Amino acid sequence: MTTSASDTAVATHSHIGASSAYRWMMCPASPRLCEGRHSEPGEFAVLGTAAHALAETCLVEKVDPCLFAGETLKHEAGETEVSGEMADGVTVYVEKVLGDLAAYGGKLIVEQSFDLSWLYPGMYGRNDAAILPSEPCGVLRIYDYKNGAKPVKAEDNVQCMYYALGALGADNPTGAETVVITIVQPNSHFKASAVESWEIAVDDLYAWGRDVLLPAAKATEDPDAPCAAGPWCGFCDAMAVCPLKQSLALGKLDEPDPGCFTLPAVQALKPADIGFLSGFFNSPDFSAWLKALAAEELNLLSRGVEVPGRKLVEQRSLGNRKWADDAAVEKALADDLGEDLWVKKLQSPAAVEKLLTARKVPKKTRDERLADLVTREEKVSMAVVSESDARPGQKSLEEQHLKLLIGE
Ligand code: SF4
Repeated sequence: MTTSASDTAVATHSHIGASSAYRWMMCPASPRLCEGRHSEPGEFAVLGTAAHALAETCLVEKVDPCLFAGETLKHEAGETEVSGEMADGVTVYVEKVLGDLAAYGGKLIVEQSFDLSWLYPGMYGRNDAAILPSEPCGVLRIYDYKNGAKPVKAEDNVQCMYYALGALGADNPTGAETVVITIVQPNSHFKASAVESWEIAVDDLYAWGRDVLLPAAKATEDPDAPCAAGPWCGFCDAMAVCPLKQSLALGKLDEPDPGCFTLPAVQALKPADIGFLSGFFNSPDFSAWLKALAAEELNLLSRGVEVPGRKLVEQRSLGNRKWADDAAVEKALADDLGEDLWVKKLQSPAAVEKLLTARKVPKKTRDERLADLVTREEKVSMAVVSESDARPGQKSLEEQHLKLLIGE
């Protein structure tokens, strides 16, 4: 039995909502600093919204996402053409949810709003999908679709735990005893974790809501709540005005005279400082902060506000050369060049996959037909990343060289 998402009347963005819970639970100042600041959704956010809209339609109507490949989909963030990749990713999610529904039974709810004000006012949200148990002492299944490439863990995932509390309500009318949280992330860097599940007892979840989530929500009301920076800053709308990020960005730099700072000589830095600075300036946080800074600067100058040392100028550039009139080119040059005037070449593997998808060739058949036709050159290089990155660390190049020499 399916409940359509059309009954979702509650607004979807709480300032202490589920999707930002990881951020505001770690940084209680962030909801106050984010107030009135909403950055325009970027390309990836729009794609994510489109994929969620496709997933909702396919779950409610129980249809194959590949049927929508090549079609234009209207959603909350605009209109997007459904690519073969998007249809394939959403297929993984739809198959998991509908597969569980067939295997375990229950009632499927899709994109349904919930209100968590029984725990704390201002908390509400919307579940991607959930399967409510049909019998007491059963399992509540919560599903979250992630379109991005950054792997997300299901275990202790505060966003999904928030969703689960929303589906349970104040007094657990379904009588569920266990919650299984499943995150489907088909585009994750780690293909092995494309579908990840984690289980928690309902009693433990309520205890977490009372002892962890509730105090964290209350802490955001404190006008003197401190800022706390970390990986959660990446999606914070307050990045451009955050005093902590500003002091972190500038604090490690020498400031010989007020109003002007210079970068210290790299060779003079200690390894710990190199690690800190490299990690910080290469972090998505800093890129996002720089982006927000540039947007704010453009906004100020466009409104006529003076930004000392900066100005707006008109930029013109010439695009690539292209024929003004194909027919005229053919007429003028066909006698001289004959067949050489035209190019006939194979489409790329991605384009061919898209064509096959648009012709409704099922994913399995597509994969089988393309498998032996496609080759891929593997390029290996070294990159410096944060120590928290899940990939195993490599030995220094000298040690690797030595290992090769002694045949280890
Ligand atoms: S940028 Fe980071 S530290 Fe600053 S308010 Fe946002 S989450 Fe908090």
